[in-house]
Amino acid sequence: MEHPPERKQNITFIPGSIASIRLFGVTVRLHFTFALLLVFLVVAGIGEGQSAPANAIYIAALFGSVALHEVGHALVGRHFSVRALEIVMFPIGGVTRLEQSPKPREEFWIAAAGPLVNIAIAAGLFLALLWRGALLPVQGLLRPTDANLLERIAGGNLVLAAFNLLPAFPMDGGRILRSALALRRPPEQATRLAARAGQFLAIGLGLYGLLAANFLLVFIAFFVYLGAAQESAAAVGQILTKGTPVRAAMVTDFRTLSHADTVRDAANLLLATSQQDFPVMHADQVIGLLGRAALLRAMASSGPESYVAGAMNRDFVRVSPDQDLAATIPLLSQAGSCVLVMEDDRLVGLLTSENLSEFLLLRRFGMPPA
Ligand code: ZN
Repeated sequence: MEHPPERKQNITFIPGSIASIRLFGVTVRLHFTFALLLVFLVVAGIGEGQSAPANAIYIAALFGSVALHEVGHALVGRHFSVRALEIVMFPIGGVTRLEQSPKPREEFWIAAAGPLVNIAIAAGLFLALLWRGALLPVQGLLRPTDANLLERIAGGNLVLAAFNLLPAFPMDGGRILRSALALRRPPEQATRLAARAGQFLAIGLGLYGLLAANFLLVFIAFFVYLGAAQESAAAVGQILTKGTPVRAAMVTDFRTLSHADTVRDAANLLLATSQQDFPVMHADQVIGLLGRAALLRAMASSGPESYVAGAMNRDFVRVSPDQDLAATIPLLSQAGSCVLVMEDDRLVGLLTSENLSEFLLLRRFGMPPA
């Protein structure tokens, strides 16, 4: 829910992740703010009535529960053929980025799947404890001890489910609300309503947090607010681009590099143009894409006289000019900042996040430059 001001809000690009793991075939990435939260929790748990290992297990179990919650979204999405690009773990939970927007009925089930996973984990643990006759009084849960560890994990899952079911964007409850609204209203309106609910909730939560001097609550409210704003911008971006071909928004006036060019040539082009990504050609065939970051890395590691062919990315993302623009936005954020538009094997344009932002801006002013 990182988010540069105004223009780039339209694009669901989540920078700032530090590590990634794979769960059930889905990439789960940790946002750096999540690591900060882990450190905070470990430090906050020290000196309570529990041992350090129990504290570590508790935190790891809650982290695992949030991850499984997200995997729940991803797997139900897959059931509806809505592919999950990745899961990013933030302090207030994970965000599953889907490749395209699901239909209302699908969105309902995809959103409900996450909290249902937490309810299932809690129910399983409570039943197991009950079975063993080890269920302790619930009032004791606020005082962490080693004895009530499993019960606290179960309780934590219930809190996760309840929090996520709040009927406000960007929480799952907000998605459920939107899917219900979208049955009778245009999607853009449904999204705006659900997002506004999220922002009202965030403001209320933030004010309460300030009055009660509960700064964790203020922190959560801040993320909810940003999330709601970003979700609605992303959804509006999807709506503004749906049914528009990639061709309408692509850059057609661009420069390319030859495979025999050096990093110095590329750097000169970077300075001379406003372009940041350069297709690398061999005759009229594209063989790679050299982005600004890779160029600078090559400059530092191999020097200006090395060849661009050694530094370029050979697994660039390509799209067809007739493809729906709305479907390529997530691909673009996955690829970094540029995808190549290719008709058969011929390069016809570049689709960059910069240009897409301009396109959306013009669209918003009712000026479709198609
Ligand atoms: Zn969720």
